[in-house]
Amino acid sequence: MRIGCPKEIKPQEFRVGMTPDAAREAVNHGHEVLIETGAGTGAGFADADYVAAGAKILGSAEEVFAQAEMIVKVKEPQAVERKRLREGQVLFTYLHLAPDPEQTKDLLASGATCIAYETVTDDRGGLPLLAPMSEVAGRLAPQVGAWTLQKANGGRGVLLGGVPGVAPARVLVIGGGVVGTHAAKVAAGMGADVTVLDRSIQRLRYLDDVFGGTFKNAYASAGNTIAMAREADLIIGAVLIPGAAAPKLISKAQLKELKPGAALVDVAIDQGGCFETSRPTTHQDPIYEVDGIMHYCVANMPGAVARTSTQALGNATMPFMLALADKGWKRACAEDRHLLNGLNVHAGKLTYEAVGAALGLPV
Ligand code: NAD
Repeated sequence: MRIGCPKEIKPQEFRVGMTPDAAREAVNHGHEVLIETGAGTGAGFADADYVAAGAKILGSAEEVFAQAEMIVKVKEPQAVERKRLREGQVLFTYLHLAPDPEQTKDLLASGATCIAYETVTDDRGGLPLLAPMSEVAGRLAPQVGAWTLQKANGGRGVLLGGVPGVAPARVLVIGGGVVGTHAAKVAAGMGADVTVLDRSIQRLRYLDDVFGGTFKNAYASAGNTIAMAREADLIIGAVLIPGAAAPKLISKAQLKELKPGAALVDVAIDQGGCFETSRPTTHQDPIYEVDGIMHYCVANMPGAVARTSTQALGNATMPFMLALADKGWKRACAEDRHLLNGLNVHAGKLTYEAVGAALGLPV
């Protein structure tokens, strides 16, 4: 199969759909890989790295879209890219169609077969192509939180790990799923005194079994949440209620109960945020202050570490990309119900229930 990977054109997107490693695997499977020149630059991959992996470099996105039978990307196709898709072509990327009627309309009109990373599932009920980005955002959260706590950034001037004779900072992580667990591990690794709150007893049992000596955990009742928030230097919001906006767990009125200069890192901002005073920010201007409390609310945290994020995403997408290329999308989806769950649009029809329900379109 001819697999194409164009350069991402969404503003501030530095990741790329295929790493040179993924290109090499596809070439080893007998496929032809077409990469737009400069596609990997933002993630630190040169055209020469792709050529060394056996891929061919093309001069423009138009050529990649025109020649490839399958397009592998990161972000949803932008309007200009959607015009380039055609019937019979396979698109494998993040789509997030439910809140995006314009994109859905264009993908239906294109006749292409569109498989969304975010709805591919696994045997444990997880979302294997979303998890790597939660891992990245989770591990990044204590790092940006530590920076936000620095005096020059408006924080309380507290070092996460403390020093001999000075107690470490207290870090409260609300939500102990993928983001929360990775955040807690890194914060504990930096020497902080860490507690994770969750509302799932099963999850708390797991955290206790695996990380009992590394960080503490407690049930996320409203009472526990505010009591522990009062003691915290850094609070990381990492909750998710699938398919719903994030619940507001700390209100504006409660900010005055927190330590002056405490930092809130709201990773759940892409679901509306779990603190009442959260609003989305960008990597250019990531923090702001409300009532003496510093807020960091960047909605695409993995973009800050585009190289790591690209590699993590590439590792996760690679087996699915190879199955689609080796078998063709029909047989690959017929043989793997988890990949089939990724199918959102085919030949002018919506094929994913939740998207149809959200947009009021037939499936
Ligand atoms: P997850 O499903 O693995 O974990 C969410 C956890 O929150 C679960 O353990 C759940 O029991 C817990 N929870 C739900 N309601 C709660 C409550 N009221 N109090 C305490 N815990 C509660 O999800 P995840 O992959 O860890 O993602 C967490 C959030 O981070 C999501 O909103 C996701 O979209 C977001 N995210 C943001 C970025 C970014 O760049 N900002 C990147 C990746 C993920």
